Amino acid sequence: MRIRTVELRRLELELVSPLATANGTHERRPVVLVHVETERGGGDGECDALAEPNYTDECADGAEAVLAEHLIPLLLGDGRPAEFGSAEDAIALLDAVPGNPMAKAALEMALLDAELRSAGQSLAASLGATRPTIPAGATLGMGATSSVIAAARSTVAAGYRRLKLKVAPGRDVVPLAALRSEFPDVILVADANCSYDLSDTGHRAALRAIDALGLAAIEQPLDRRDLAGSARLVAECATPVVLDEAIDSLAALEAALRARACAGVVVKPARLGGIAAAVRVHDACVAAGMHLSIGGMLEAGLARAATIAVGALDGFDLPGDLGASSRYFRPDITAPHELVDGGLRVPASPGLGVALDAAVVEAATARCRVFGPS
Ligand code: MG
Repeated sequence: MRIRTVELRRLELELVSPLATANGTHERRPVVLVHVETERGGGDGECDALAEPNYTDECADGAEAVLAEHLIPLLLGDGRPAEFGSAEDAIALLDAVPGNPMAKAALEMALLDAELRSAGQSLAASLGATRPTIPAGATLGMGATSSVIAAARSTVAAGYRRLKLKVAPGRDVVPLAALRSEFPDVILVADANCSYDLSDTGHRAALRAIDALGLAAIEQPLDRRDLAGSARLVAECATPVVLDEAIDSLAALEAALRARACAGVVVKPARLGGIAAAVRVHDACVAAGMHLSIGGMLEAGLARAATIAVGALDGFDLPGDLGASSRYFRPDITAPHELVDGGLRVPASPGLGVALDAAVVEAATARCRVFGPS
């Protein structure tokens, strides 16, 4: 694989509705796109870094800068091989820069898209994923119980059977209990985004009350570093305790497994550094008997396609939170991912299996730069 150019494009997209979480409210959705042009053809990638560095330490502005000033020059600069044996070989060069998993994942996605398109193989097929659809899930932000219930009604009416409610101390048991009683058959998950602390007696009481509601999982209740506390909850709760923010690498997973700090893991390819890393975490979780959930990052259509393909792997047994494009963007930057019988189709065309809508992308573009060999 010979990389000829890399285009770095910054979009400003509008979310259909803001999402309130324990870390703040996501109101805007900047998207960084990369397009690699190789002698075998082109490929596209999308960076999942959010507007603010409040979910992890990456944000869209920072990821764009790291791509422009460090990662893309590694692929195109002096001293690199003239030709890479595969996308994987090219991606390995990026290890010279520590951290920045979401920025790296965008380049990985583009290189894999180019490689798989030229080979005529879909991403899902290349991963060995055989499910034609994955169950869709919808995330509801925090809000007054009446507005949470109203949002849940329209979401369930649209065909979603899996709901995840963002919670935080004081904004948890009442809306969750109301959801549980109004939708007894819906699979329900609570996502705390690290907001509880076992040294607080009120927090402990709330977690006990949440545990009594029969949820499918409680996601990342405690600080990402508090594996001992999480292990205590695993031992005390009937509800599966699932780690999300805490699992940012295979090493972090291994530490959590040693500590018996989780019953399951949310896999977000971008947070782990890309698709290959996500598959390694998936495989390690399956070997350890962990539950698995595929996680969304308010992705636009490209990254949504990639994450759906990863979510089609056999180990995913817990409700994920990937929904249709229309919950997030109207229009999306690709043909929309649509809800069909409560699920999302796994793209089957070569590469990511979706194409950018040039008019939508152009209209949302704030800036665009093309990098060639130095
Ligand atoms: Mg989460």
